[in-house]
Amino acid sequence: MGLLDGLTIKNYCDYNGIEYKQPSENEVNIKVCPHCGNSKWKVYINNYSNIGTCHVCKTVYNAYTFAREFTGYDKGKLAAHLKDVRREEKLLIPTYTDYRKAVREYKNLRLPIAKSIGIDIANPNYLKNRGITEHYSKMFDLRVCDSNSIYVCKGSDGEPYEQSYDGRILIPIKNIDGVIVSFQGRDYTGLAEKKYMFPSGVNSASTLLYNIDKAKGCPNVIINEGVFDVIATQIAIDKLAIPDLAVVGSFGKHFSKRTDRLEVSQIEHLNEMKRLGLKTATIMWDGEKDAYNDAIKAAETIHRKIGIKTRVAALPSGKDPNEVIPQDIWKAYLNAVKIDSTFDILKARSSNPY
Ligand SMILES: [Zn+2]
Repeated sequence: MGLLDGLTIKNYCDYNGIEYKQPSENEVNIKVCPHCGNSKWKVYINNYSNIGTCHVCKTVYNAYTFAREFTGYDKGKLAAHLKDVRREEKLLIPTYTDYRKAVREYKNLRLPIAKSIGIDIANPNYLKNRGITEHYSKMFDLRVCDSNSIYVCKGSDGEPYEQSYDGRILIPIKNIDGVIVSFQGRDYTGLAEKKYMFPSGVNSASTLLYNIDKAKGCPNVIINEGVFDVIATQIAIDKLAIPDLAVVGSFGKHFSKRTDRLEVSQIEHLNEMKRLGLKTATIMWDGEKDAYNDAIKAAETIHRKIGIKTRVAALPSGKDPNEVIPQDIWKAYLNAVKIDSTFDILKARSSNPY
């Protein structure tokens, strides 16, 4: 990894208290030029490419040369300084050992009592109606909570309390090694107040990627939003026998960032996937305007932080992967637009298909 990985000129200014304005999302306008000292807001640096210039002395900057001019440090000292900035701005990707430590099994996770599909109970209608056969229920380890499915959570006051998962499909969430580290319960009765229920005191889904254990080592991945989108895409991949393509779920329309140095977030999981051979990530969220714009932003974040190729795919309007036929998923995948530069981003934004 390089000295500047994940670092933008904006992070650099924030860390150092350098005065700047943002005339647009990708542009950082800096008050004082560290080279000529002019303080009339003549330095403009692109926050995506980190390249820019002073309109007075004509110095061309990138984040590295800007930092060098700003600090006056030699090579060694500058490297340490940039590392400090990245650490402080929470941009350091944890080492392999830290990643492994953080992705450890959640020690006291005891799933609520549930019935195994195809063994204790027939594949439920709720799943069948979504095109999920017994084969896929088993592949995704889905289970049925029909009675006495209690999970004991620890409350914020430290006191234990019970959550009932009765009437829900239990969806185990695994880490990259296939160990269950969290779960969700999806109501199948249509009567529950909350469609999804989450245990508290367990790895939050927003720090995990659904189905990552099956995507491990694959060069290309589709990133869907929810669990049932992922299953639908997996069915499409299998049905059309698409090679070298896997699917994961992000549990939301943005990627979690680390809030603490030891915790891992979705970006770190993608980074580990990259280490194991991932080359391209294609984001495929719901077929609507805001989801598409969010996907562009998320793709940009992934590309900038870990340097893999990113793309955004558009499903038919108003549809999610669970509501289309496999051919629609494949078509959206083939026609996805790349998000690898400022130019790509602007182009993708201006050609939002919804
Ligand atoms: Zn200047």
